[in-house]
Order: sequence, then C-alpha cells, then structure tokens
Amino acid sequence: MNLTCIKCGFSSEYIDFKYLCQEGCVACGEADLRECPKCGNKCLFSRSESLEGEHGEMKELSKQLESISNTDGPDRLEEAKELIRKLRKMNLRWNIPALDAFIKKRQRAIFL
Ligand SMILES: [Zn+2]
Repeated sequence: MNLTCIKCGFSSEYIDFKYLCQEGCVACGEADLRECPKCGNKCLFSRSESLEGEHGEMKELSKQLESISNTDGPDRLEEAKELIRKLRKMNLRWNIPALDAFIKKRQRAIFL
C-alpha cells in the first residue's frame, strides 16, 4: 500500500515515510505523523491507513517467527529474539490482542 504526500504528491511505500510520533503521542491521537522523504513535509495519515501498510509487515514477521523452533541453532534463536522485539514494538502502537497472544505463545515455545 502506498502513502501519498499531500504537499508534493510524492507517493511511495509507507516504510519510506519516516515515522515521527512516538506511541501515545497526544498531538496525533488517532493519526500517524510521518515525514515525506522527498520534500520533508510532515504528513498526517490516519491510523487505519498506516495500519493497512504495517499489517502486511507484521504478517510477514509473524510467519518468519512461526518457522523458528527451540531446536534451531543459535543464529535462528537470535533471529527469533529480534522478530519478537520488532513485533512487540509494532504492537505497542496497534494493540492487537491476537498478535500479543501469538508473540507470547512463540516466546514460550522457543525460549522456555
Ligand atoms: Zn512531499
């Protein structure tokens, strides 16, 4: 899914637009403040718009995490840790209960 800058019309993948606001930013509320990589304009996107983009990435990361098991080598376990860290961080913004449960389940399966 592409986001479009309202100022210069630049359109690109949501990941190209740098995320500016921290989770819980009062100013943004239900919106997502991102910087246009072309003109630097601060664009406001709706959370649902951004969620649509991030949803695909979360799905991809979840799939990767699903494929790692506790019998894998140290490299894969490191990878799992990194995936969990990323997914957690993303879910801080979206609060998807199913994703939270999935992360906990995988963490138990891999590290306990
Ligand atoms: Zn722009």
